[in-house]
Amino acid sequence: MSGRRLIDDCFLHDKDRLTHTETLALIRERLARVTGTETVAIEAAAGRFLAEPVVAPRNVPLHANSAVDGYAFAHDGLPGGGELAVGPRIAAGDIGHQAVEAGKAARIFTGAVMPEGTDTVAMQEDCTLSGDGGTVAIPQALKKGANVRRAGEDVTAGIRVLEPGHRLRPQDIATIASFGIGEISVRAPVRVALISTGNELLRPGMAIKPGQVYDSNHFMLRALCSSLPVAITDCGILADDATAVEAAIAGAAANHDVILTSGGASRGEEDHIVTTIDKLGKRHLWQIAIKPGRPMSFGQIGDCVFLGLPGNPVAAFVCFLLYCRPALMVLGGGAWAEPQRYPLPAGFEITNKKPDRREFWRGWLETDPQGRPVVRKFPRDGSGLISGLREASGLIEISEDRTSVAAGDSVDFLPFSSFGIST
Ligand code: AMP
Ligand code: MG
Repeated sequence: MSGRRLIDDCFLHDKDRLTHTETLALIRERLARVTGTETVAIEAAAGRFLAEPVVAPRNVPLHANSAVDGYAFAHDGLPGGGELAVGPRIAAGDIGHQAVEAGKAARIFTGAVMPEGTDTVAMQEDCTLSGDGGTVAIPQALKKGANVRRAGEDVTAGIRVLEPGHRLRPQDIATIASFGIGEISVRAPVRVALISTGNELLRPGMAIKPGQVYDSNHFMLRALCSSLPVAITDCGILADDATAVEAAIAGAAANHDVILTSGGASRGEEDHIVTTIDKLGKRHLWQIAIKPGRPMSFGQIGDCVFLGLPGNPVAAFVCFLLYCRPALMVLGGGAWAEPQRYPLPAGFEITNKKPDRREFWRGWLETDPQGRPVVRKFPRDGSGLISGLREASGLIEISEDRTSVAAGDSVDFLPFSSFGIST
């Protein structure tokens, strides 16, 4: 454990509903890193949060070397005609070759160490050999230092290239490998207990009976988490029964950093999530003025963070992206991440949006006949329609104050890729 406090000791806000912006601020302010560190091989480090800075232990590259196949020579000593005697032959990986004397050029290959006495390389394609290859004519216009990679030109020894909390991308792994470092200290995965709730739910693979619904949220949330450093425990499906819900949630809280539920999140007689958080722990947030996804809860049971998503798949998906994903990043030792927003012209019309709530519609980008991007909207709004998520490549964010959108109006488009959903 990090020793930092997970959540400030605050009580539930006194407002009926928080706005989207207030919700983000509240989650951000009350969460901190919970994970310890572990050492992993760099082949397993992509996507993990760094626990320590990465500092270059030496210059990369270690030696000045040739960027091309050609002839290495001393620029200042080049005679008027550009003719030099061909001296030693140096390939990548060769060491211990002699210095190149004045009036000579070394035959050199890409990646080979620059021999002493040389500072410039002429590409073989630009040179002319004569005298059975014993003499080479170097082009005159070449600048001193051309085609040479300086020692340390990629990274200089002692430079701090990556900071703690940075999420390791393939190019960062390449950097660490280029330093000769094979293991790295990263944050342990966030331990997430994933719970579905609802008497009607069953798992795929089982025969469905009237009144039943397959538990798609479990698999959707698991897949959404796959782009984050989290370790999921499948806690199955809970019946809509207060005692069963309380027992399962109390059990999960004991050995997880986060409980992530879907369903049972409203105040109906069959909904037990809110009452369970209130009974076992503390609730920080319950309702958000957004669509889809109003009944989203955020609380804690002891040190375990509770994130309660609505049951409707679209609402669960949207709330996960907007609130749970950044929360999991922070808990895992990363930075709070705001999605990228692109203001783009709408290729649709809406006349009846309710004021006082922010809406997140499902949409995608197309190119209009003039080659400009235009945002299309999935025409149906139901928050049970997984089809809209499937058709879409992002969310269209419409702020509280807007009640209509005309074709050509600017709307904010949030591509799914900025939430870690790759194509
Ligand atoms: P609830 O939030 O429990 O009132 O559920 C709202 C709607 O979402 C209901 O139609 C549920 O059947 C549906 N739902 C709840 N949980 C899931 C789930 N895990 N997978 C698919 N649909 C669900
Ligand atoms: Mg339910």
